[in-house]
Parts: sequence; C-alpha cells; structure tokens
Amino acid sequence: MIVEVIINSNVKDLNRIFDYNVPIELEEKIKIGRRVIVPFGRMKQSQEGYIIGIKEKSDYMIKDVNDILIENSIDEERIELARLMARKYFCNISDCIKLMLPPGTTSKNMINRMKEKSSRFVYLLKSEDEIKDDIENKIIKSEKQKRILNFLIDNDEVSTVELEIFTDTTSVTIKTLEQKGYIEIVEKQVERNPFLDKNIQHTENLKLTNEQEKAFNTINENIKENKYGEFLIYGITGSGKTEIYLQLIGETIKKDKTSIVLVPEISLTPQMVDRFIARFGQGKIAILHSKLSIGERYDQWKKIEKDDNIKIVIGARSAIFAPVKNLGLIIIDEEHDSSYKADSTPRYHAKEIARYLGKKNNCPVVLGSATPDISTYFNALKGDIKLLTLTKRANNSNLPKVEIIDLKDELAQGNRSMLSRKLYSEIENNLTNKKQTILFLNRRGYSTFVMCRNCGYTVKCNKCNVSMTYHIESNRLKCHYCGYERKNVTVCPECNSKNIRYFGTGTEKLEIEIKKLFPNSSTIRMDVDTVTKKNSHEMILDKFKNDGIDILIGTQMVVKGHHFPNVTLVGVIAADSSLFIDDYRSSEKTFQLLTQVAGRAGREGQEGKVIIQTYNPDNFAIECSKMQNYIMFYNEEIKYREMLKFPPFCDIIKIDVSDYSKNQVAKLSMQIYDKLVNQNEDNRMSIYKPMPAPIDKIKDRYRWRILIRCRFTNTIIDRVNNSITGIKSNSARVSIDVNPNSMK
Ligand code: ADP
Ligand code: ZN
Ligand code: ZN
Repeated sequence: MIVEVIINSNVKDLNRIFDYNVPIELEEKIKIGRRVIVPFGRMKQSQEGYIIGIKEKSDYMIKDVNDILIENSIDEERIELARLMARKYFCNISDCIKLMLPPGTTSKNMINRMKEKSSRFVYLLKSEDEIKDDIENKIIKSEKQKRILNFLIDNDEVSTVELEIFTDTTSVTIKTLEQKGYIEIVEKQVERNPFLDKNIQHTENLKLTNEQEKAFNTINENIKENKYGEFLIYGITGSGKTEIYLQLIGETIKKDKTSIVLVPEISLTPQMVDRFIARFGQGKIAILHSKLSIGERYDQWKKIEKDDNIKIVIGARSAIFAPVKNLGLIIIDEEHDSSYKADSTPRYHAKEIARYLGKKNNCPVVLGSATPDISTYFNALKGDIKLLTLTKRANNSNLPKVEIIDLKDELAQGNRSMLSRKLYSEIENNLTNKKQTILFLNRRGYSTFVMCRNCGYTVKCNKCNVSMTYHIESNRLKCHYCGYERKNVTVCPECNSKNIRYFGTGTEKLEIEIKKLFPNSSTIRMDVDTVTKKNSHEMILDKFKNDGIDILIGTQMVVKGHHFPNVTLVGVIAADSSLFIDDYRSSEKTFQLLTQVAGRAGREGQEGKVIIQTYNPDNFAIECSKMQNYIMFYNEEIKYREMLKFPPFCDIIKIDVSDYSKNQVAKLSMQIYDKLVNQNEDNRMSIYKPMPAPIDKIKDRYRWRILIRCRFTNTIIDRVNNSITGIKSNSARVSIDVNPNSMK
C-alpha cells in the first residue's frame, strides 16, 4: 500500500504531499491521521509526518516509511478539516494539523506525564527575530540550544522541568543559554491551578425571564433534535446571556455530549470559570488558555481526549480544536471580539471552524454579544442566523449614564490639560467618596512621536517606516512594530537643535499627569508595558480590586469582561484615537470599545458614570455609544457599508508581499497582479493595483499590497492560489488575509 504523507516541517513549499510505500508488516497500522516516521530529504534524515491519504499505486520512485505510530494521531475528520483550512487560508496543511495536536507535542520527544510541579519558569530575553537570525547565522549552533529556543518561541509559561522533558535536554543546556543572555529563569508562584479544590458554592439553574426562556427553548430544540443551526443572542451586558449558556450546557450534558465554550483570552478569568464550576463541578470541566503552563495545558488536552467525564471545554480561540469526541454544543461569547480571528498563519476565524464542526456534528453554534459584529447582525436580520434578543437586564441594575465632552470647547476655554473640567471634578468626587475610577486611553508609552521643532525632523525606527514612541520609565524610544529600541534623542541629529518636542499622549504620561493632579491618589497602570509574561493582567486587576487602589489607567486591556463592584466612574481620555485609522471597521471598533468601557461602570447596584472626551462629539459612533444604542449604530453603519461596498456586502482579500529589496517587492507584486488580472475576464473580482502598504516598511522588509474585493468563493480561492504559485524569490513572503482584523 501507498500512503500520502504531509511532513511536519516549515518547508516553504505549500502543501506538498509525498508518497511512501508501506512495508507489509506495517500495513495493518495504516489509517488516515496516523503519525509516521519517514526518511526525508537528501540526507534521508527521519522526519515526522501525518498520513492524509491511502492508495494502491504511486507514479514516483518512492521510499518506505520507517514506522507508523498511534500515539498523538488525529482522526480522519480533522485531517479533512486541516486540508480545507490549508486551501481556504492559503497555508500549509502541517500548520493546520499543529493546531489539532496536544500543546508542546509538535516535537519528536513525547512525554507521558508531568510529575514535578516546578516554580521556576523560563522566559526569552530576545525577540523571535533576533533568535531566528542568530540560528541562521550560526551564532547558535547546538541542536539542543536550538530546540530550547524554538520551543520557547512557540510556547508560553514553560517551567524548567517541562522544558527539559519536552525538548529532551538537560539543565546544563538551559544554564548555558541563561549565561549567553538568551533566557532568564524566574522563581514564580505557580499560577492557581484551575482545578485546585476551591470551596465554590454550588448553584442551581435560575428561573429564566421570558426573554431568556424564549432564547433557551429555541436553541434547545436543536440540541434535542441533534440539529445544526446558528444562533445569535444579542443582549446588553447583564441581560443574562451566561445564564442561558449554562442551562444549554446542562441540556447538552443530559444527552451525554460535550460543549465547547469560547471566550476572549483576556476575559478568561477565574471568576468566569468559577461560574461554570459552581453549576457543574470541576470534574466536568477542562480549560485551555495560554496562562496555564505548557504542562498544565498538555494535561488538560489529554484529559479532554481520554477522560469521559469532561463535558465542558472552556478556552480562547484555539480551544475550538480541542479533541472532544461527542460534540453537542458550541458557544462563542463576545462573538465580535477580534481575538477570534488569528492574525498569523493559519489565519482562521474560530467562527468559521465552529460552523464547520457544528455541521459535521449536527449541533448548534451559539454566538453572544452586546455589540454584535456588523456582519453577524446583518446575517441575523437576513435569517441566516437565528436572532434572539434580550432587551432587559436580568438583575434590574441600571445602565450607567454616559456624558460626552467636546475637547474643542475645553481648548476654547483655555484648558490644555488631558482632563476636561468635568472629568477632573468627577475624579475628585470619587476620591472623596472612596470609589474607584478607570481611565482608558488607547495608546501606550509617554508620547507617540518625537519631533524637532526647528527643522521638523521626527524620529523613526531604523527598520520600520513608523515614528518611535518615547517611554519615560526607561528613557528610551521604542518601535511598537518591531521592538527596536534606542536611546532618547535630546539633540536633533539633522540640525543640532535642542528644541525637541514630544507629541501625542500615552498611558505613561497620563499616569504621571494624574499623580500630579491628585497627589494623594493611588494609581495602577495596565498596558503591554506593565503586563508581561511574568506579571499577568490578572495580578494587576487583583491588586486594583483588593488593595484599595483609586485609579486604574490602561489601554483596551482594561475594558473586557472584568467585574469591579466599586468602580463608579469610567473616563475615556480620547475617543478619537481609533476613529480615523484607515480601516473600514474603525467606527464599529470605536462603538464596541466605548460600549464595553461604559459597561465597566456601576455594575452592582451603584450608579455608574461614564465620561467620554472627544474632538468629534457629532461622530455617529460616539453619539450612539452615548445612548448605548446598538441598533441605531447598526442602521447607520450598514448604510455606509452598502454604499462603499464593504463587508458584509463583499469580502476583502488582502495580499501582502514583503521583501528586503524595494525593487523586488514591487516586481513580485506586479507579477501577482498580472496573474490575477488574467484570470478575471468575468470581472468577478475588483482588483486594486499593487501599492505600498500604509506602513511600507517593517523589520527591514518593504511591504506592498494588493487588495481584492469580491465574493470569496471556491473559484476565487483557486484564482488567488494560481496567482501566487511559482513566485520565485528566496526572501519574499506572501501572506493572504481574508477580511483581515487590521488594514495596516
Ligand atoms: P450576561 O452574560 O448577559 O452579561 P449574566 O448571565 O452574567 O449576563 O447575568 C447578569 C446577572 O444577572 C448575573 O448576576 C446573573 O446571576 C443574574 N441573572 C441572570 N439571569 C437571571 C434570572 N433569570 N433571574 C435572576 N438573576 C439572573
Ligand atoms: Zn532639527
Ligand atoms: Zn521598528
């Protein structure tokens, strides 16, 4: 027999399938999805791969497989999914298979169990690019060191013990890398294991309100009848969506089936998991998220595979690939959240995978949101998704009052500070009354660009065509695209003037200002700079909640899902910062963000207040968020989308081409463009001429882009695939994103 094999490697060649002969003694082990060891390449080194097809004859001269393994195989259904994904998301089948394997087991070295619980964790000190360069340039030569570094690139939260086991190395190699400055080892309190016995009070199903009951019954029909269907529960925060999820999961368990619940990574907090444990008990629940150590994630994955008691899998995007056997329900909470779309290869959307799995397993897919994605709501109105609306808060608490402040007026009144007079006095009030405040600003750092006032020179990154952000804590300039850092500039390199000005405001500056204005207040900041792998957002939030800190300052990290009973005031420092970026979804993102921020105020019976500062008080996204009126926003936004032909009225395909040579990237882009045009006699695609991307250089790579507007169908997939095959260049990268999260 002959097997078709996909090799697990990062070979650039898209989806090449290799034929191998299977010796008679291994024939009975042949099955699609099984792991194989095969000789590969000129050196005939053994490589791992997966069987994706079986046939009688091959047209090639072929070698024998060395072995067929059963451990860590995947089922045939998943191989089929991986093949579909590779086609649809323009990537390697092996990249897709990786998502379906237990965490950490893409390497050859398998482990059975993690025994020792370690509290020493290993973190990289260099960026992925630096490390890859060092490996390429043979600065790192040892295979063991390479394995460790690559493993750390792919996995977060790895302890020293786990690292040794997963990479088949010893503490000596780890030590060497520490001495060379590649990694650091940090003693750390082990994050609370989600399954540590906590004394959680059991909860019973609540009596559903009429609206809840209607939604519940509609979806339950499909659960009872084992029928696929897509549902949208649209309901303001606190309207009781989670209670409906819980009861639907209960029904699914009655049928002895498993539910997958997806939540945005950042809202996967213990409080949220506790609600599920309280209802169903921890023995039924598995959790997958990146804050668990690699060993814990591996254990959870194996438990899902092997332990028949597990009936609920809760996790972020990639948990959609959890190896559940008897899938009965998929729930995607906060379905509009952009984290459900992967922004690196494979660029899949969890919703699309959920739909596929729902159909395959004859089970419903439930989306929930207070601010649904415009396309989701459009499809719900059209009837492709069943719309279920909750209009009232389940526990009768009130929505906060939202007030818009026009910053132009403030300027006219001579107020140049970051706080309007209104926001200032409200913060003062809150401090007096010992209530907590959240201030939100969507930019980190101190100032967002640095300019010479004499000659207009602005400091840009050496490797990217973007201005650098000043960080006062480290007194350094940082590039937010590639991580490049340099010393601060105090004298203009062009004209020697000392007249350097700092423009734009980030969270660092805001915190300093607040401390100046309210010297007796305590503050805590949460943004990418304060949230590191070692210092999780969770720890910061716990501190804010429990240590009586007055003011939390942060970027969008502060807006999701948290529950602070004592927060009564939320201030948005500049609502305009996300409005005018060159992106068809900017209004939608602004509305979602402002509505979510507003949802943080006054959640437990206390009156909440939200103050939004803006230079564009008449902008409709801002007006609608003042009224917290999604429908009004939707009706306006959908008109724009239709007029300008943006999704949901068409799909947008973004083809990014990058290379170190400016000429080469232009040339390749033109080649792809020509190939696309040649296939477009029927004009099904509107193809835009190749252009430099809005940020036309990142990490020394010049970036061009081709945009296509069309209906994304199988025919179009073929055309795009045809246009990029046979592109010849060693260093060029072509990446394709359909309806991307960001147009940068
Ligand atoms: P959402 O997920 O829409 O934000 P939740 O399900 O968290 O809403 O409900 C908000 C609050 O209302 C919770 O404290 C929850 O326990 C309570 N709640 C939900 N449904 C009911 C109900 N039918 N009766 C009483 N309280 C409810
Ligand atoms: Zn100058
Ligand atoms: Zn840069």
